[in-house]
Amino acid sequence: MYVDVILPVPLADSYTYFAPPEMEAQISVGALVTVEFGQSRRLSGIVGYIRQAPPQSLNKIKPILAVETAQPVVRQPQIPFWEWISQYYLCKLGEVYNAAIPSGLRADSPISYTARKETFIRLSGAYANNNLNDAFQKITRSAKQEQLLLAFMQYSRAAKGEIAKKELLAKSQATSSILNSLIEKRILETFDKEISRLQVYGEEVETLNKLNDYQQTAYNEILDRFSGKDVCLLHGVTSSGKTEIYTHLIAKTLDMNRQVLFLLPEIALTAQITTRLKKFYGDRLGVYHSKINENERIEIWNNLLTDTVLSVILGVRSSIFLPFRDLGLIIVDEEHEPSYKQQDPAPRYHARNAAIVLARMHGAKVVLGSATPSIESFHNARTGKYGYVQLNKRFEETELPLIMPVDVKELRRKKQMKTLFSPLLIEKMQTALTNGEQVLLFHNRRGFSPTLVCKICDWTPKCTYCDVSLSYHKYANHLTCHYCGRVYKLPQHCPECENAALKPWGFGTEKIEDEIRTLFPSVAVARMDSDTTRNKKSSEEIISHFEAGETQILIGTQMIAKGLDFAKVSLAGIINADSLMNFPDFRAYERAYQLMAQVAGRTGRRKTHGEVVLQTSHPDHPLIQLALNHDYEGMYAMQSEERQLFRYPPFSRLINIDLKHKKDDVLREASAYFCAILREKLGDRVMGPDKPAVGRVQNLFIRRILLKIEAKASVRTLREILEKAQNRTAQVAEFKYITMAFDVDPE
Ligand code: ADP
Ligand code: ZN
Ligand code: ZN
Repeated sequence: MYVDVILPVPLADSYTYFAPPEMEAQISVGALVTVEFGQSRRLSGIVGYIRQAPPQSLNKIKPILAVETAQPVVRQPQIPFWEWISQYYLCKLGEVYNAAIPSGLRADSPISYTARKETFIRLSGAYANNNLNDAFQKITRSAKQEQLLLAFMQYSRAAKGEIAKKELLAKSQATSSILNSLIEKRILETFDKEISRLQVYGEEVETLNKLNDYQQTAYNEILDRFSGKDVCLLHGVTSSGKTEIYTHLIAKTLDMNRQVLFLLPEIALTAQITTRLKKFYGDRLGVYHSKINENERIEIWNNLLTDTVLSVILGVRSSIFLPFRDLGLIIVDEEHEPSYKQQDPAPRYHARNAAIVLARMHGAKVVLGSATPSIESFHNARTGKYGYVQLNKRFEETELPLIMPVDVKELRRKKQMKTLFSPLLIEKMQTALTNGEQVLLFHNRRGFSPTLVCKICDWTPKCTYCDVSLSYHKYANHLTCHYCGRVYKLPQHCPECENAALKPWGFGTEKIEDEIRTLFPSVAVARMDSDTTRNKKSSEEIISHFEAGETQILIGTQMIAKGLDFAKVSLAGIINADSLMNFPDFRAYERAYQLMAQVAGRTGRRKTHGEVVLQTSHPDHPLIQLALNHDYEGMYAMQSEERQLFRYPPFSRLINIDLKHKKDDVLREASAYFCAILREKLGDRVMGPDKPAVGRVQNLFIRRILLKIEAKASVRTLREILEKAQNRTAQVAEFKYITMAFDVDPE
């Protein structure tokens, strides 16, 4: 028997191996097998295809060394879904396999699954058939032992005469020494039992909240759209209760014995929604993201594979790879979020778009939810490709927040900007805090991290391996490279001019925090950004402290603008709106609008009317005006005209190709050569090659080529053109070690 095995390597899509006769019975599509790859590497691969006939050449065909799991570890239609991803996103099947399967399932992984064990108590052999009179005889002199034995009888009855030691001690309020006496007398005994990490929800599940009239109408409209379309965009203003509508759609899907995937863009959001959903679905809800541990990940995978308990998965983008039996509904919440796109490594997939393809394979419906839809999704709704449902009322019927622009340029001229905060923002903060309300301060992270600069010659410290300035972290007292992660000590003086006075330049959230502590010394402040949320717990803690009112001011980057539901925030400050707009990126305005609207949307979510102080040097800028008026459609009209004109999405499909090499001159020649080949077929759809803003990372120089392809063009033809051009380039001896990374639909 000959089989094609998908291996976790970025070369060919699959490799043919030979299955010896004694193994044949164990081989099925989806089984994991160990094979030899190259001279001596042993890899775990997955059987992708069983060949009807032997391959044309039997040269170099090696045998499968072992079958790791005879049962498939995937379900239909996972492998066809991987194939779609590899075709569309221009990567190899093995790269998708690598991203999709938890590594702990594979025998070649250093991590392997360990079951969770717990100590349980049962009657020991002699008493197991309830011959308990003798037992009670033995302990007549100890009332406490008697009580514990009675408690054991009571609490273990429902569970086949077993109970976890911890639970028994807690419920009976006995000490372990009393328990040990019963064990020494051989009345009770302990044993270890494997327990699931997933079944932990102890409480009764609740019935769903009743939808209000607007929500009920929207819910009905979504079902109506689903009769003709597979995807529906739910465009609901912030705090209109989109999540409540999802809960009803989920319940309806579960009633049909189908499964639900609920996608969120960011781990930081999962905790709040998990709490909201656990109440309704208990242990049927599973949570899947990169920060749960490998054992839990494997239990979720296996649970879905054998289909026992889980039926709703809440997760970030990687959960599209789970082995669903029968998806009936996929919810993509905050569908506009760029973090749905995987950056590095390949597969560089967009989880929202891939989810739509996955849904089609399952015959499932998709709801895309957002208060500020992506231009692409709104365009698809406008052109009738998607259904469209609007929800314009906030749940508590509060008005949308009042956004107040402040001209910081003017204030600076008048010397009224003594801190990073305008007098209006300071005054509003004082009022909110006096009223016992909370404040969010938003500052854009991208590109504005602070660095050090020499006051005399303008020298700034750069990474040795990347062409980028190092970021200065005041509290940690060091410099870091945000591209390669290296940490550097602070220089004592400027290496160019020997000047010892190096000054911080630019400002970030740390600086805002410092100034806030000086202005409001008695107020509890927290900061949420990539520095303070390295692990999942810290972001959960920051959020839950703020929810509980233990902190009054929360300072943060993009993370605080995303879909969180805080009851007592009445004010938000946007420290520098210009930094949102000034990006050389065709999405800059769309993103800036979305961020302003989303930050505003965190305020006034209950009774009070929310307010936003928006600091800018261009208060008359058309985009600021659109944001003040909550005019999403105006923003869409402006952007879509521009995008049509300059051939940007949704009117074209973009593909970035990054070529890398350690020698700049070789790279320059290779990029020109490759580009020329592409132009033979693609003409003026090829832009570049250019040096990107950061032209060297990890000691490799980079050239970027951008393709603008008609939205309707064939993916397969394009793939062939690119593969041919890549192969021709690789045939030139000096270009052999040029690497190419393809990024389809870059965000
Ligand atoms: P969105 O997802 O549109 O931003 P949410 O679903 O978070 O809005 O709703 C905002 C708040 O209003 C939440 O705290 C939610 O529990 C509450 N809410 C919305 N609709 C209802 C409802 N029908 N019954 C009870 N509470 C609701
Ligand atoms: Zn200097
Ligand atoms: Zn670096």
